[in-house]
Amino acid sequence: MPNLLVTGGAGFIGSNFVRLTLAETEHRIVVLDRLTYAGHRINLAEVEDHPRLVFHQGDIADRETVRRLYREYEPLAVVNFAAESHVDRSIDGPDEFVRTNIVGTFELLEAARRSLAARPRDGFRMLQVSTDEDYGSLGKEGRFEETTPYAPNSPYAASKAAADHLVRAYNRTYSLPTLTTNCSNNYGPFQYPEKLVPLMILNAVEGRSLPIYGDGSNVRDWLFVEDHCRGLLAALERGTPGETYNFGGEAERTNLEVVQTLCGILEEIHPPTDNEAAAEAGYESYDEMIEFVTDRPGHDRRYAMEISKVERELGWSPTVSFEKGLRRTVEWYLENLAWCRAVQQDSYDRRRLGLDGAASGGEEA
Ligand code: NAD
Repeated sequence: MPNLLVTGGAGFIGSNFVRLTLAETEHRIVVLDRLTYAGHRINLAEVEDHPRLVFHQGDIADRETVRRLYREYEPLAVVNFAAESHVDRSIDGPDEFVRTNIVGTFELLEAARRSLAARPRDGFRMLQVSTDEDYGSLGKEGRFEETTPYAPNSPYAASKAAADHLVRAYNRTYSLPTLTTNCSNNYGPFQYPEKLVPLMILNAVEGRSLPIYGDGSNVRDWLFVEDHCRGLLAALERGTPGETYNFGGEAERTNLEVVQTLCGILEEIHPPTDNEAAAEAGYESYDEMIEFVTDRPGHDRRYAMEISKVERELGWSPTVSFEKGLRRTVEWYLENLAWCRAVQQDSYDRRRLGLDGAASGGEEA
């Protein structure tokens, strides 16, 4: 059974990937996760006794830990999800983003290079899970292609872009069989409540305002997390080393449209008349909770992904429509309020972040 080293496997996308991969492949999975505020063992509770899952708490930027795991498990593939992932937090404190996202990726690459010097490299893959934010911001027209030059605008995006450049260099210089995937905004179960979709659902349930940055017209392309995870498996199985692949949901929406769609779903499945907190706060509809707040510094206007390469070369395309995926997500959060409480306890109160010191509500990837 081939070993897969999955870093950041206790986070949002990583834990969805671990569940899917255990269910649909024969791989044995070794998770390396530092369990930061965003990573939680309970995200893997459904599979915690699975005979093909091993969990290690540790830091990808810690050389000894990473090299020991490579020696112990000789992974056939490494899938790097581990990252500091929230743009607003990168504005308030970029240091951890440089350490984990850049230095951590460097340690994974260097350990792979050394490990492969002593064993066959046939079939080995290092998959760097990256983001559309590396490409910068679009105007009204056009989409990001795999050949679009990187032009990151936030410290988060810059740290991911820097790591991707190292991945590329290790492929070109040392022939390390790497793959890089750039994906648009994910949403779905197990997303930490600091990001737009879960933040809005939980605020609505608790009768708190729904803070939207600026005028709400910034556009993101939304992909259901399981679709992304299927794409990553396809890249591992059928991707060509040295290549990069863009994943997106063909679902461009303004932030205001996302929140209004969420409000519509909540009106149906958890109407304000059944919601004591909303009633107590005097709200008769979820739309009334929307509040426009100070914009994010350097807020990118629009992201959109051209996905014809993955459709052609990997046989992948999104299968879950935005409306269906969002409904499944709202239902999951309403059924898992205990999870929401557990992951926020003592570490996050959904206050506004990312105003570079100024305070005030929340959001986005
Ligand atoms: P997340 O914040 O939910 O999870 C990150 C995980 O990494 C957590 O489990 C955390 O504990 C772990 N981690 C952080 N620092 C670590 C370290 N030094 N060593 C080991 N583990 C560490 O993030 P996510 O949304 O699941 O994103 C996963 C990856 O996908 C990231 O690399 C992100 O850049 C990328 N990505 C995310 C999106 C999105 O919309 N969420 C879109 C495109 C790409």
